[in-house]
Amino acid sequence: MISDELISMHWQQDLLSSVEVGIVVMDKDFTIEVWNQFMENHADLRPGQVSGKKLFSLFDEIDEQWLRSKADPVFNLKTPVFIIWEQRPYLFRFSTSRPITSDALYMFQNVTMFPLSSPDGTVNKLCMLVYDVTDQALSKLRVERLNDELQHMSRVDGLTGLFNRRYWQERFDSLFKLSQRRETVSTACMLDIDHFKKINDTYGHQAGDLVIKTLARVIQKSIRETDLAGRYGGEEFAVILVDSTASNALKVAERIRRLAEAMVIDHEGHQICFTVSIGLSEFRKPVNSSMAWLEEADQALYMSKNSGRNRVSVWHHENEEQIGQLQG
Ligand code: GH3
Ligand code: MG
Ligand code: MG
Repeated sequence: MISDELISMHWQQDLLSSVEVGIVVMDKDFTIEVWNQFMENHADLRPGQVSGKKLFSLFDEIDEQWLRSKADPVFNLKTPVFIIWEQRPYLFRFSTSRPITSDALYMFQNVTMFPLSSPDGTVNKLCMLVYDVTDQALSKLRVERLNDELQHMSRVDGLTGLFNRRYWQERFDSLFKLSQRRETVSTACMLDIDHFKKINDTYGHQAGDLVIKTLARVIQKSIRETDLAGRYGGEEFAVILVDSTASNALKVAERIRRLAEAMVIDHEGHQICFTVSIGLSEFRKPVNSSMAWLEEADQALYMSKNSGRNRVSVWHHENEEQIGQLQG
């Protein structure tokens, strides 16, 4: 006769083997007592090879101090502990059966540790469950990446890689609010390519696009990372030179103007040259809206256009009629 105890052991063994979850039973010192089929398959270690050994002596990737402190509540408070993949992608560095093209080099894991109490109520052992959550982690990461890409696409102009007008305006509005509270001044800068219609008419729309792209690159190279540059219209750009007075901004604008003037763009056998007109306005406290500030820079740009193009003009606040200029 097979005893009830033997029957029960048998089905418990079956259960441990067939479940698609890692099961490890360990004592307070992390000495392994139970190691199921899932763990055997993924770690390539049979129960006989791990039984009686410390977990940390077998798996270098596990941070002993960290796991011991994580498991503290299991023994001291007799409560379960959860470690999710967002916290640590994995506890055991198991390779994944997913195709190599997927993002998962290793199996993403959620881990649960809970107390196993003796009949007298003391807790000297814990049971660790290891769940393979690779599929769910990958789809979450994919959605996150897609969202990042969508966000990027909605903010950036496709031709130049600069911020598009809508997003630039949004950032400009918050920069404006910040400027109202700060001691240091920033300067708004509007740029427009001279006689751009003629470039389009003479060399074609694609050549025009190339000129726009080239100027965008010149702008980006000439400003600081903290400055705010955007494509404001077809061949119009707006830049906020952060923490720059008008006289500092003038140097930057003049550099852009000169670099643009010196550019020779090769397009289908033609050498295309272009110039740019620029208007600047330094922030001042009485300006009561971001658009009013930008409007001043636009007025200065208008003056550059009116007085011959290929030049930089600065809006003077003391005398709104008088606009200083640097000529090309
Ligand atoms: P001005 O010196 O006074 O600025 O003269 P302009 O010829 O540059 O005049 P305007 O700024 O009015 O011309 C802008 C032209 O830019 C009109 C439009 O056909 C063209 N344009 C707008 N967006 C694009 C674009 O994305 N690519 C190209 N190639 N052309 C564009
Ligand atoms: Mg123009
Ligand atoms: Mg224009």
